[in-house]
Amino acid sequence: MAGILVEMPDTQVRQPSSPRPKSGLPTPGSRPPAVDLDWLIIGGGIHGVHIAIRLLFEGADRDRLRILDPADRLLDRWTSCTEITGMEYLRSPAVHNLDVAPNSLRRFARKSRKSDPGLFAHPYERPTRALFNSHCDQLIQSHQLDALHLHGRALQISMTREAVAVNHTGGGTIASRRIVLAIGASDQPHWPEWAPQEHPRIRHAFDPQSTSLPPRDQSRVAVIGGGLSAAQIALRLSAIGHQVALVSRHPIRTHQFDSDPGWLGPKYMTGFHSTRDLTQRRNLIQEARHRGSISPDVRVALRREINRKRITWRNASIRSVTDHEHGVSLQLSHGGPVQVDQVVLATGFTTQRPGGVMLDKLIESAGLPCSACGYPVVDNELRWHPQIHVAGPLAELELGPTSRNIAGARSAGDRIVASLKRNAQQPT
Ligand SMILES: Cc1cc2nc3c(=O)[nH]c(=O)nc-3n(C[C@H](O)[C@H](O)[C@H](O)COP(=O)(O)OP(=O)(O)OC[C@H]3O[C@@H](n4cnc5c(N)ncnc54)[C@H](O)[C@@H]3O)c2cc1C
Repeated sequence: MAGILVEMPDTQVRQPSSPRPKSGLPTPGSRPPAVDLDWLIIGGGIHGVHIAIRLLFEGADRDRLRILDPADRLLDRWTSCTEITGMEYLRSPAVHNLDVAPNSLRRFARKSRKSDPGLFAHPYERPTRALFNSHCDQLIQSHQLDALHLHGRALQISMTREAVAVNHTGGGTIASRRIVLAIGASDQPHWPEWAPQEHPRIRHAFDPQSTSLPPRDQSRVAVIGGGLSAAQIALRLSAIGHQVALVSRHPIRTHQFDSDPGWLGPKYMTGFHSTRDLTQRRNLIQEARHRGSISPDVRVALRREINRKRITWRNASIRSVTDHEHGVSLQLSHGGPVQVDQVVLATGFTTQRPGGVMLDKLIESAGLPCSACGYPVVDNELRWHPQIHVAGPLAELELGPTSRNIAGARSAGDRIVASLKRNAQQPT
């Protein structure tokens, strides 16, 4: 391989001798960019990082593999979204980690801090967030993934005869034989209709531009949402002295996981795959996901704070918000208004297909198949096109309700690696 022919002004990975191809997407009549890479993974979150590790483990050429992500560091959205909740333990078990071997996180814990009994929570051996993140850091370091990280956001993707051309904010075009779309959903926080987006007293906990909590001197805070993140943020705010009103439009629902573990194996997935009708698959996913549920341990902690009157819980929808001199007033579907200094939305992410206009255009230009819900129709190697694989939410109609989770990243890794191996076996 003669060097990496990628035009990416803000990266450190280009080899000095590499010729610089012209930037911009190939236009009719112009020469397409040279094929630079075997694999370009778009999105450096939980899914993108795990898939990179899997491909490298299977012998993919690291000189011809890159991860494109706009953040300064890999796993940025995971780190900031989980940090703001203050979650101490993951909801998922230790075997759901980013390494190839499921027991890697346990081994890492044994090696690094043998004597600490609090590294895993019962039941299901759920790791602390700190342990999980240290393990991720160690994997990124040992695979030198930072050196493969191109800083940029894919803006436009188009097919050339032999490759996929990706135009990105880093200022160039990358051509890769295959791409993996691992763009996640965390760039699209869900804003309820009643909540103005530019209001100085209303923030979304998962806003990609700024994730921060209200300052301590503004002590009355409403947290909006009925899921695990809302409960954890309410607990975190209460612990630092805020008077918290948690407003949820449904009663508190308790589930250990956000879908039944039967969805991780044949128990439910056999039936899922035998369902050929994708609208029915979408319905199965919706029914299976315990959206807006909290784990039993967080429920106990929440109940305690409610009993201590540090958190009040209102089960109502919000009708509107009005400003007053020292804060805002939330009008509810029933009961009196809630008057607070600040509002934190913990309403998760929108359910629409991620990727926005970039994917709309790609779908149109490459004729990619979508189900009625707008999500990709892919084969069992998660190929949306012979050169385009998907992961995370985009793989949902094939991987089922766990597709967005760490377990889903591992399943996506299995499928993509299977595709790599099958290709390697084919005669050239
Ligand atoms: C608070 C919280 C706690 C969670 N806890 C758990 C848990 O305990 N266990 C579990 O299994 N799951 C958990 N999840 C769910 C899931 O594992 C995470 O949401 C995870 O971050 C999803 O990973 P991802 O790679 O799909 O997406 P992301 O983390 O969103 O990463 C996708 C990346 O792609 C980038 N991107 C988007 N568009 C482009 C583009 N056009 N070009 C280049 N890059 C792009 C984004 O900027 C982002 O960096 C949790 C989620 C949240 C929010």
